[in-house]
Amino acid sequence: MKQAPIIWTNVLLFSITTLVAAIGVPWYALTVGFGWSEILATIICLGYCGMSITAGYHRLWAHKTYDAHPFLQWAYAIGGAFALQNSALHWSADHRAHHRHVDNNDKDPYSAGRGFWYSHMGWMLRDYPGVEKPGYNNCRDLQKNNIVMWQHRNYLLLTIATNFGIPLLLGIISGNIIGMLLSAGVLRLVLSHHFTFFINSLAHIWGKQPYTDQNSARDNGVLAFLTYGEGYHNFHHIFESDYRNGIKWYQFDPTKWFIKTASWLGLTRNLRVVPEERIAQAKAKMQLQRAIASVKQRPNAEQLLQLLEHEYELLLARMQDYYQLKKQLLLQRKHQLVAQYQAVDFKQRYGEFKQHLQLQQQHWQRLVTAFS
Ligand SMILES: [Zn+2]
Ligand SMILES: [Zn+2]
Repeated sequence: MKQAPIIWTNVLLFSITTLVAAIGVPWYALTVGFGWSEILATIICLGYCGMSITAGYHRLWAHKTYDAHPFLQWAYAIGGAFALQNSALHWSADHRAHHRHVDNNDKDPYSAGRGFWYSHMGWMLRDYPGVEKPGYNNCRDLQKNNIVMWQHRNYLLLTIATNFGIPLLLGIISGNIIGMLLSAGVLRLVLSHHFTFFINSLAHIWGKQPYTDQNSARDNGVLAFLTYGEGYHNFHHIFESDYRNGIKWYQFDPTKWFIKTASWLGLTRNLRVVPEERIAQAKAKMQLQRAIASVKQRPNAEQLLQLLEHEYELLLARMQDYYQLKKQLLLQRKHQLVAQYQAVDFKQRYGEFKQHLQLQQQHWQRLVTAFS
Protein backbone atom coordinates (compact mmCIF):
# COMPACT_ATOMS: atom_id res chain seq x y z
CA MET A 1 0.00 0.00 0.00
CA LYS A 2 1.22 3.50 -0.82
CA GLN A 3 2.41 5.55 2.16
CA ALA A 4 0.58 8.79 2.97
CA PRO A 5 2.42 11.89 1.68
CA ILE A 6 4.95 13.41 4.06
CA ILE A 7 4.25 16.87 5.50
CA TRP A 8 7.73 18.30 4.98
CA THR A 9 7.25 21.50 7.00
CA ASN A 10 6.50 19.47 10.12
CA VAL A 11 9.22 16.88 9.47
CA LEU A 12 11.83 19.60 9.00
CA LEU A 13 10.64 21.59 12.00
CA PHE A 14 10.72 18.59 14.35
CA SER A 15 14.03 17.28 12.91
CA ILE A 16 15.91 20.56 13.13
CA THR A 17 14.69 21.49 16.62
CA THR A 18 15.37 17.94 17.91
CA LEU A 19 18.90 17.92 16.45
CA VAL A 20 19.72 21.31 17.92
CA ALA A 21 18.31 20.29 21.33
CA ALA A 22 20.10 16.92 21.31
CA ILE A 23 23.48 18.06 19.93
CA GLY A 24 23.75 21.86 19.93
CA VAL A 25 22.51 22.38 23.50
CA PRO A 26 24.82 19.78 25.21
CA TRP A 27 27.75 20.97 23.07
CA TYR A 28 27.15 24.57 24.15
CA ALA A 29 26.70 23.48 27.78
CA LEU A 30 30.08 21.71 27.73
CA THR A 31 32.06 24.27 25.77
CA VAL A 32 30.57 27.57 26.97
CA GLY A 33 28.05 26.72 29.67
CA PHE A 34 24.63 28.06 30.60
CA GLY A 35 24.15 30.53 33.44
CA TRP A 36 21.29 30.79 35.94
CA SER A 37 19.52 33.40 33.83
CA GLU A 38 19.22 30.97 30.88
CA ILE A 39 18.07 28.11 33.12
CA LEU A 40 15.48 30.25 34.89
CA ALA A 41 14.22 31.81 31.65
CA THR A 42 13.85 28.32 30.09
CA ILE A 43 11.80 27.05 33.05
CA ILE A 44 9.53 30.12 33.02
CA CYS A 45 9.03 29.97 29.24
CA LEU A 46 8.37 26.22 29.48
CA GLY A 47 5.71 26.84 32.14
CA TYR A 48 4.14 29.65 30.12
CA CYS A 49 3.88 27.47 26.98
CA GLY A 50 2.61 24.47 28.96
CA MET A 51 -0.07 26.38 30.84
CA SER A 52 -1.22 28.16 27.68
CA ILE A 53 -1.88 24.74 26.17
CA THR A 54 -3.38 22.96 29.21
CA ALA A 55 -5.34 25.81 30.86
CA GLY A 56 -5.97 27.73 27.61
CA TYR A 57 -6.20 25.51 24.52
CA HIS A 58 -7.37 22.42 26.38
CA ARG A 59 -9.53 23.23 29.39
CA LEU A 60 -10.80 26.66 28.28
CA TRP A 61 -11.23 26.51 24.50
CA ALA A 62 -11.50 22.81 23.59
CA HIS A 63 -13.71 21.86 26.57
CA LYS A 64 -15.17 25.14 27.88
CA THR A 65 -14.74 24.04 31.49
CA TYR A 66 -14.64 27.67 32.71
CA ASP A 67 -14.85 31.28 31.48
CA ALA A 68 -11.76 33.47 31.29
CA HIS A 69 -11.17 37.22 31.30
CA PRO A 70 -9.98 38.56 27.90
CA PHE A 71 -6.63 39.46 29.50
CA LEU A 72 -6.00 35.79 30.27
CA GLN A 73 -7.22 34.75 26.83
CA TRP A 74 -4.72 37.08 25.15
CA ALA A 75 -1.98 35.57 27.30
CA TYR A 76 -3.05 32.04 26.29
CA ALA A 77 -3.24 33.00 22.60
CA ILE A 78 0.33 34.32 22.60
CA GLY A 79 1.65 31.47 24.79
CA GLY A 80 -0.05 28.91 22.53
CA ALA A 81 1.71 30.33 19.47
CA PHE A 82 4.97 30.27 21.46
CA ALA A 83 4.34 26.54 22.13
CA LEU A 84 4.04 25.99 18.37
CA GLN A 85 1.14 23.54 18.40
CA ASN A 86 -1.02 25.11 15.73
CA SER A 87 -3.74 27.71 16.33
CA ALA A 88 -6.19 27.24 19.21
CA LEU A 89 -9.01 26.79 16.67
CA HIS A 90 -7.20 24.01 14.79
CA TRP A 91 -5.96 22.37 18.01
CA SER A 92 -9.46 22.38 19.54
CA ALA A 93 -11.04 20.94 16.36
CA ASP A 94 -8.58 18.03 16.47
CA HIS A 95 -9.03 17.59 20.19
CA ARG A 96 -12.83 17.57 20.09
CA ALA A 97 -12.64 14.93 17.34
CA HIS A 98 -10.25 12.95 19.58
CA HIS A 99 -12.78 12.93 22.45
CA ARG A 100 -15.76 12.21 20.22
CA HIS A 101 -14.14 9.34 18.34
CA VAL A 102 -11.51 8.24 20.87
CA ASP A 103 -9.59 5.10 19.77
CA ASN A 104 -11.37 5.00 16.41
CA ASN A 105 -8.44 4.67 14.01
CA ASP A 106 -10.34 6.31 11.18
CA LYS A 107 -11.80 9.28 13.00
CA ASP A 108 -9.63 10.01 16.06
CA PRO A 109 -6.79 12.21 14.68
CA TYR A 110 -4.26 10.77 17.14
CA SER A 111 -5.82 7.42 17.93
CA ALA A 112 -3.76 5.41 20.44
CA GLY A 113 -5.03 2.33 18.60
CA ARG A 114 -2.40 3.08 15.94
CA GLY A 115 0.41 2.72 18.47
CA PHE A 116 2.73 4.89 20.54
CA TRP A 117 4.63 6.59 17.74
CA TYR A 118 1.55 7.50 15.72
CA SER A 119 -0.29 9.02 18.68
CA HIS A 120 2.85 10.80 19.93
CA MET A 121 4.13 12.44 16.73
CA GLY A 122 3.51 10.26 13.70
CA TRP A 123 0.04 11.70 13.05
CA MET A 124 1.61 15.11 12.35
CA LEU A 125 4.30 13.89 9.96
CA ARG A 126 2.13 12.54 7.16
CA ASP A 127 -1.14 13.62 5.61
CA TYR A 128 -3.03 10.47 6.58
CA PRO A 129 -6.03 10.00 4.30
CA GLY A 130 -7.87 7.62 6.62
CA VAL A 131 -8.38 10.27 9.29
CA GLU A 132 -11.46 12.31 8.63
CA LYS A 133 -10.50 15.97 8.58
CA PRO A 134 -12.81 17.60 11.10
CA GLY A 135 -12.70 21.06 9.52
CA TYR A 136 -13.79 23.61 12.06
CA ASN A 137 -17.46 22.61 12.09
CA ASN A 138 -17.12 21.25 15.60
CA CYS A 139 -15.79 24.64 16.79
CA ARG A 140 -18.53 27.06 15.74
CA ASP A 141 -18.46 28.58 19.23
CA LEU A 142 -14.75 29.35 18.95
CA GLN A 143 -15.25 30.93 15.54
CA LYS A 144 -17.26 33.61 17.35
CA ASN A 145 -14.38 34.32 19.75
CA ASN A 146 -12.40 37.36 18.54
CA ILE A 147 -9.21 36.45 20.37
CA VAL A 148 -9.20 32.87 19.04
CA MET A 149 -9.85 34.11 15.50
CA TRP A 150 -7.22 36.85 15.75
CA GLN A 151 -4.67 34.23 16.80
CA HIS A 152 -5.80 31.90 13.99
CA ARG A 153 -5.42 34.60 11.32
CA ASN A 154 -2.03 35.76 12.58
CA TYR A 155 -0.72 32.40 13.70
CA LEU A 156 2.40 32.23 11.53
CA LEU A 157 3.47 35.75 12.39
CA LEU A 158 2.85 35.12 16.10
CA THR A 159 4.89 31.89 16.15
CA ILE A 160 7.86 33.63 14.54
CA ALA A 161 7.56 36.70 16.74
CA THR A 162 7.36 34.67 19.95
CA ASN A 163 9.82 31.87 19.16
CA PHE A 164 12.53 34.22 17.93
CA GLY A 165 11.48 37.46 19.60
CA ILE A 166 11.09 36.29 23.22
CA PRO A 167 14.43 34.39 23.48
CA LEU A 168 16.19 37.18 21.55
CA LEU A 169 14.83 39.83 23.89
CA LEU A 170 15.77 37.75 26.93
CA GLY A 171 19.25 37.24 25.42
CA ILE A 172 19.71 40.97 24.94
CA ILE A 173 18.67 41.58 28.55
CA SER A 174 20.93 38.84 29.97
CA GLY A 175 23.80 39.57 27.56
CA ASN A 176 23.95 36.05 26.12
CA ILE A 177 21.92 35.86 22.90
CA ILE A 178 23.21 32.48 21.60
CA GLY A 179 22.79 30.79 24.99
CA MET A 180 19.25 32.10 25.35
CA LEU A 181 18.24 31.15 21.78
CA LEU A 182 19.46 27.60 22.42
CA SER A 183 17.90 27.17 25.87
CA ALA A 184 14.75 29.32 26.12
CA GLY A 185 14.35 29.04 22.33
CA VAL A 186 15.01 25.52 21.06
CA LEU A 187 15.36 23.32 24.16
CA ARG A 188 12.21 24.85 25.66
CA LEU A 189 10.27 24.21 22.44
CA VAL A 190 11.33 20.57 22.12
CA LEU A 191 10.59 19.78 25.78
CA SER A 192 7.27 21.61 25.59
CA HIS A 193 6.30 19.62 22.48
CA HIS A 194 7.06 16.22 23.98
CA PHE A 195 5.44 16.99 27.34
CA THR A 196 2.18 17.73 25.51
CA PHE A 197 2.54 14.83 23.08
CA PHE A 198 2.80 12.42 26.04
CA ILE A 199 -0.86 13.15 26.80
CA ASN A 200 -1.89 11.68 23.44
CA SER A 201 0.53 8.76 23.55
CA LEU A 202 1.57 7.56 27.04
CA ALA A 203 -1.58 8.77 28.82
CA HIS A 204 -3.50 6.35 26.57
CA ILE A 205 -1.11 3.45 27.20
CA TRP A 206 0.42 3.59 30.67
CA GLY A 207 -1.54 3.87 33.92
CA LYS A 208 -4.74 2.90 35.68
CA GLN A 209 -8.39 3.06 34.63
CA PRO A 210 -10.32 3.80 37.83
CA TYR A 211 -13.37 5.44 36.21
CA THR A 212 -13.93 3.77 32.85
CA ASP A 213 -12.51 1.13 30.54
CA GLN A 214 -14.65 2.24 27.61
CA ASN A 215 -11.63 4.00 26.11
CA SER A 216 -7.84 3.67 26.37
CA ALA A 217 -7.23 6.79 28.54
CA ARG A 218 -5.25 6.22 31.74
CA ASP A 219 -4.62 7.99 35.06
CA ASN A 220 -0.89 8.33 35.68
CA GLY A 221 0.65 10.40 38.49
CA VAL A 222 4.13 10.36 36.91
CA LEU A 223 2.84 11.78 33.65
CA ALA A 224 0.87 14.41 35.57
CA PHE A 225 4.25 15.88 36.66
CA LEU A 226 5.35 16.37 33.07
CA THR A 227 2.00 17.50 31.73
CA TYR A 228 0.90 20.12 34.30
CA GLY A 229 -1.75 17.76 35.68
CA GLU A 230 -3.10 16.35 32.43
CA GLY A 231 -1.86 12.86 33.39
CA TYR A 232 -5.20 12.08 35.04
CA HIS A 233 -6.51 11.31 31.61
CA ASN A 234 -8.92 8.50 32.49
CA PHE A 235 -10.90 10.92 34.67
CA HIS A 236 -10.65 13.57 31.96
CA HIS A 237 -12.06 11.39 29.17
CA ILE A 238 -15.14 10.39 31.15
CA PHE A 239 -15.73 13.82 32.75
CA GLU A 240 -14.38 16.22 30.12
CA SER A 241 -16.56 19.15 31.24
CA ASP A 242 -14.78 19.28 34.63
CA TYR A 243 -12.08 21.95 34.93
CA ARG A 244 -10.05 19.57 37.09
CA ASN A 245 -8.14 16.49 35.95
CA GLY A 246 -6.65 15.47 39.30
CA ILE A 247 -9.62 15.70 41.67
CA LYS A 248 -7.93 14.69 44.94
CA TRP A 249 -6.04 17.36 46.89
CA TYR A 250 -2.80 15.35 46.73
CA GLN A 251 -2.94 14.81 42.96
CA PHE A 252 -0.53 17.02 41.05
CA ASP A 253 -2.68 19.27 38.89
CA PRO A 254 -1.08 22.76 38.67
CA THR A 255 -3.44 23.66 35.80
CA LYS A 256 -6.37 23.22 38.19
CA TRP A 257 -4.59 25.22 40.92
CA PHE A 258 -3.87 27.98 38.43
CA ILE A 259 -7.50 28.20 37.21
CA LYS A 260 -8.78 28.20 40.82
CA THR A 261 -6.30 30.86 41.96
CA ALA A 262 -7.17 32.99 38.93
CA SER A 263 -10.84 32.81 39.98
CA TRP A 264 -9.98 34.55 43.28
CA LEU A 265 -8.39 37.33 41.25
CA GLY A 266 -11.46 37.65 39.03
CA LEU A 267 -9.65 36.34 35.95
CA THR A 268 -11.67 33.12 35.66
CA ARG A 269 -15.24 32.23 36.65
CA ASN A 270 -17.97 29.58 36.30
CA LEU A 271 -15.51 26.78 37.04
CA ARG A 272 -17.43 23.62 36.15
CA VAL A 273 -17.23 20.46 38.25
CA VAL A 274 -18.99 17.12 37.85
CA PRO A 275 -21.22 16.20 40.85
CA GLU A 276 -19.28 14.15 43.42
CA GLU A 277 -21.93 11.45 43.31
CA ARG A 278 -21.42 10.73 39.61
CA ILE A 279 -17.68 10.36 40.13
CA ALA A 280 -18.18 7.99 43.09
CA GLN A 281 -20.72 5.95 41.08
CA ALA A 282 -18.36 5.61 38.10
CA LYS A 283 -15.57 4.40 40.36
CA ALA A 284 -17.78 1.87 42.17
CA LYS A 285 -19.11 0.57 38.85
CA MET A 286 -15.58 -0.10 37.59
CA GLN A 287 -14.67 -1.85 40.85
CA LEU A 288 -17.79 -4.01 40.58
CA GLN A 289 -16.98 -4.92 36.99
CA ARG A 290 -13.43 -5.99 37.92
CA ALA A 291 -14.55 -7.92 41.00
CA ILE A 292 -17.19 -9.79 38.94
CA ALA A 293 -14.57 -10.80 36.38
CA SER A 294 -12.28 -12.10 39.12
CA VAL A 295 -15.04 -13.85 41.10
CA LYS A 296 -16.25 -15.75 38.02
CA GLN A 297 -13.07 -17.84 38.13
CA ARG A 298 -13.77 -19.07 41.66
CA PRO A 299 -15.60 -22.31 42.58
CA ASN A 300 -18.29 -20.59 44.71
CA ALA A 301 -18.84 -17.91 42.07
CA GLU A 302 -22.64 -17.85 42.28
CA GLN A 303 -22.65 -17.08 46.00
CA LEU A 304 -19.90 -14.46 45.74
CA LEU A 305 -21.63 -12.72 42.85
CA GLN A 306 -24.78 -12.41 44.92
CA LEU A 307 -22.80 -10.93 47.80
CA LEU A 308 -21.11 -8.44 45.49
CA GLU A 309 -24.38 -7.35 43.91
CA HIS A 310 -25.98 -6.94 47.32
CA GLU A 311 -23.11 -4.85 48.73
CA TYR A 312 -22.96 -2.78 45.56
CA GLU A 313 -26.67 -1.95 45.78
CA LEU A 314 -26.22 -1.02 49.42
CA LEU A 315 -23.28 1.24 48.54
CA LEU A 316 -25.30 3.03 45.85
CA ALA A 317 -28.21 3.53 48.26
CA ARG A 318 -25.91 4.99 50.94
CA MET A 319 -24.35 7.26 48.34
CA GLN A 320 -27.75 8.49 47.23
CA ASP A 321 -28.84 9.23 50.81
CA TYR A 322 -25.66 11.06 51.66
CA TYR A 323 -25.24 13.13 48.51
CA GLN A 324 -28.89 14.10 48.41
CA LEU A 325 -28.77 15.38 51.97
CA LYS A 326 -25.48 17.13 51.29
CA LYS A 327 -27.03 18.90 48.32
CA GLN A 328 -29.98 20.04 50.45
CA LEU A 329 -27.68 21.20 53.21
CA LEU A 330 -25.61 23.29 50.82
CA LEU A 331 -28.74 24.76 49.27
CA GLN A 332 -30.23 25.69 52.60
CA ARG A 333 -26.98 27.15 53.80
CA LYS A 334 -26.93 29.25 50.69
CA HIS A 335 -30.43 30.61 51.21
CA GLN A 336 -30.22 30.53 55.00
CA LEU A 337 -33.83 29.39 55.12
CA VAL A 338 -33.43 26.71 57.70
CA ALA A 339 -34.50 27.45 61.26
CA GLN A 340 -31.96 26.92 63.99
CA TYR A 341 -33.57 23.78 65.48
CA GLN A 342 -33.96 22.29 62.00
CA ALA A 343 -30.34 23.00 61.28
CA VAL A 344 -29.25 20.97 64.28
CA ASP A 345 -31.42 18.04 63.23
CA PHE A 346 -30.17 18.36 59.69
CA LYS A 347 -26.54 18.34 60.69
CA GLN A 348 -27.07 15.31 62.86
CA ARG A 349 -28.67 13.39 60.01
CA TYR A 350 -25.93 14.52 57.69
CA GLY A 351 -23.30 13.21 60.11
CA GLU A 352 -25.11 9.87 60.37
CA PHE A 353 -25.46 9.48 56.61
CA LYS A 354 -21.84 10.36 56.15
CA GLN A 355 -20.82 7.72 58.66
CA HIS A 356 -23.08 5.11 57.02
CA LEU A 357 -21.54 5.81 53.64
CA GLN A 358 -17.99 5.72 55.01
CA LEU A 359 -18.64 2.37 56.72
CA GLN A 360 -20.13 0.91 53.58
CA GLN A 361 -17.26 2.30 51.51
CA GLN A 362 -14.71 0.65 53.83
CA HIS A 363 -16.66 -2.59 53.68
CA TRP A 364 -16.88 -2.39 49.87
CA GLN A 365 -13.19 -1.58 49.54
CA ARG A 366 -12.25 -4.66 51.58
CA LEU A 367 -14.52 -6.77 49.42
CA VAL A 368 -13.25 -5.60 46.03
CA THR A 369 -9.63 -5.77 47.21
CA ALA A 370 -10.20 -9.39 48.22
CA PHE A 371 -11.52 -10.12 44.73
CA SER A 372 -8.98 -8.20 42.74
ZN1 LIG B 1 -9.45 16.78 26.45
ZN1 LIG C 1 -6.99 11.57 25.17
